[in-house]
Amino acid sequence: MVMSHLLAKAALTLSVVAVFASCKGDGAKEKKEAPVKDSVPTVLAPGSSIKLDPAKKYIFLTWDDGPQPPGTINCEEIFREEGVKATFFMVGLHQFSASRARIVDTIRNSYPQFLLANHSHSHGFRDHYREFYSHPDSAMQDIYTAEKELKVPVKIVRLPGMNSWVENGKIQGPNSSLEVCKRLGSAGYNAVGWDVEWRFGRHSVPVQGAEQMAHEVEEKFANGTTYAANAVVILAHDRMFRDQYKDSLRKFVQILKQNPDYVFETIDHYPLIQKGK
Ligand SMILES: [Zn+2]
Repeated sequence: MVMSHLLAKAALTLSVVAVFASCKGDGAKEKKEAPVKDSVPTVLAPGSSIKLDPAKKYIFLTWDDGPQPPGTINCEEIFREEGVKATFFMVGLHQFSASRARIVDTIRNSYPQFLLANHSHSHGFRDHYREFYSHPDSAMQDIYTAEKELKVPVKIVRLPGMNSWVENGKIQGPNSSLEVCKRLGSAGYNAVGWDVEWRFGRHSVPVQGAEQMAHEVEEKFANGTTYAANAVVILAHDRMFRDQYKDSLRKFVQILKQNPDYVFETIDHYPLIQKGK
């Protein structure tokens, strides 16, 4: 029994050595025949630049305030089934349980389809925006806290309650947010506002229907009033898409997908953010 065990172990050791030797040999041979970069698929890291096609129109689905199940889970499921990319700007305080932490992990680990980005720790001191933006040191700390607790892989922020932009040092937004924007810019962060909002009413019920939303997106492209050319940033909130509104989201995505010029991308590939890299 002991003897056969030892023999088996010896055989295993030999075979491991043999495999290792053959790997090494094949690897060396392969290097001569073809460059390694051709044989290894490139794994894109969040925040890395891609080449944008000037003939295409880019759609950035940016969904705020998650994790907020069941909405977040419904959105994730629909985006996966429809094969479209999206960005989730999440709030640190909303990750208050193990199951919510798992949702955040899933989004973070689903790049390049999904990008996890920063929507602050406290959502602007729990929606007290005036106080949040008049205390820029605390606001910055709040954003840094979210980055740590959510393990946000990129320095891209959506400011709570403000349609403000910081891209490569250029700043735009409501006056009250400008000091925080300035600090974000100096610290190497980008902030992203939006071009079209899928609004919600009482109990977070979506205001526009799928066709209306798709029409608003088409209109934005057509009249060229977007923040960056050939790019529309759409804002919505995960919590709007409870089970009874899932179909509306799916329909919206399906209408947009019918246009062969539209490409869905994550916000790290937004033209003005990529430019400075
Ligand atoms: Zn928000």
